[in-house]
Amino acid sequence: MVDEPGTIVLVTNADAASRALFERALAVTPGGVNSPVRAFGSVGGVPRFMASGRGPYLVDVDGVEYVDLVCSWGPMVLGHAHPDVVDAIARAASKGTSFGTPTAGEVQLAEEIVRRVEPVEQLRLVNSGTEATMSAVRLARGFTGRSKVVKFAGCYHGHVDALLAAAGSGVATLGLPDSPGITGAATSDTIVLPYNDLDAIEAAFASYGDQIACIITEAAAANMGVVPPNAGFNARLRDVAHRHGALLILDEVMTGFRVSASGWFGLEGVAADLFTFGKVMGGGLPAAAFGGRADIMQRLAPSGPVYQAGTLSGNPLATAAGLATLRACTLDVYGHLDATAKTVGRAASDALTAVGVPHRLQVAGNLFSVFFTDDGVTDYAAARAQESWRYAPFFHALLDHGVYAPPSAFEAWFVSAAHDDLAVERIADALPYAAKAAASAVPPEVVQ
Ligand SMILES: *Cc1c(COP(=O)(O)O)cnc(C)c1O
Repeated sequence: MVDEPGTIVLVTNADAASRALFERALAVTPGGVNSPVRAFGSVGGVPRFMASGRGPYLVDVDGVEYVDLVCSWGPMVLGHAHPDVVDAIARAASKGTSFGTPTAGEVQLAEEIVRRVEPVEQLRLVNSGTEATMSAVRLARGFTGRSKVVKFAGCYHGHVDALLAAAGSGVATLGLPDSPGITGAATSDTIVLPYNDLDAIEAAFASYGDQIACIITEAAAANMGVVPPNAGFNARLRDVAHRHGALLILDEVMTGFRVSASGWFGLEGVAADLFTFGKVMGGGLPAAAFGGRADIMQRLAPSGPVYQAGTLSGNPLATAAGLATLRACTLDVYGHLDATAKTVGRAASDALTAVGVPHRLQVAGNLFSVFFTDDGVTDYAAARAQESWRYAPFFHALLDHGVYAPPSAFEAWFVSAAHDDLAVERIADALPYAAKAAASAVPPEVVQ
């Protein structure tokens, strides 16, 4: 019954197989998951264990089909099991899965990225976005000989110790103010400022300008819900940094090759000194990268003294999946992503308007999310002030009607090139139920 995704609408609450797997998982894995937001912690209920995906659809272990609005948190820009990507992986796998030597695929993927993002002259492949930002910050420190790093509240850059301060969705979802296990020493050189606040940046550089190695920021913030940078914000960050001899790192792990063929850079054109990439560039396999000015990248081992390495970095399956994905991401694909994001975002907004739920649809390219508030959200404090208690019933009504939305009020929604009219229709059909659930949600009781 799952051979023809999109032709059968299965609307059931059957979750027995997921429930059974979750119980087993809880015994052998903390919280039953390998990345916290998957656990449904902020929306409650049993996380769905997925068995397969094709195009815009996921099928869980109970055989229930969903239109996917998570897309693996970004990577599946072409939809699930795209034939070009599956073929590329199969062909690569048949030739061996890892050599610990350089391979042609690494050169091709690097060339593809350098071609697309003009300020990136050289890059280094790694295995995760976390590794990319961690290594980029190390390189910025090594290059400048300085210690301090500026980041923005609500921006997530992976679980790097120094950057896991006021780090957005995962932490916001869990309600953890901070993570135990990260020492004061690891974060004492991290300066956390409010997003979109240029006065705060000027003040920080006035006090610590000669000690700051870099500013790291999401090219467009999308890990506290979608909060785009104000016009000129990223350009000003670069100017302030350069005035003080510091570097700008634009984290495009989420936006890279998703919001345009050359990511947020393609929309805004701010030439950072270093960029970080991940998600889409791995095509669903673990590949990420950091890169930028050649004079900075040349400081990296083995051409320079800043050490960085990885047993599986540039893995042949991952580079094959990434290359196949990027090559299939034509301008038509980006046009489709933009149009689909607009349609789905508007449908969500219309459904909420129809039942009088206060909300804001926020957009950065084809990334979007809904905040339950009347006011525009420009920073983390405003994001957190939304009526996030409306999200759990909203989410579960979507899930019950065959739509897999992000299981947190603080995440972007993702569409793919495979989201066709039928998939979009199914989302539009489910949204009124979700809006009604959000409308009748009750705020949690204030604990005395
Ligand atoms: C997802 C993400 C990361 C971390 O990437 P992982 O591959 O999960 O380690 C870093 N920065 C941003 C902006 C991201 O969205």
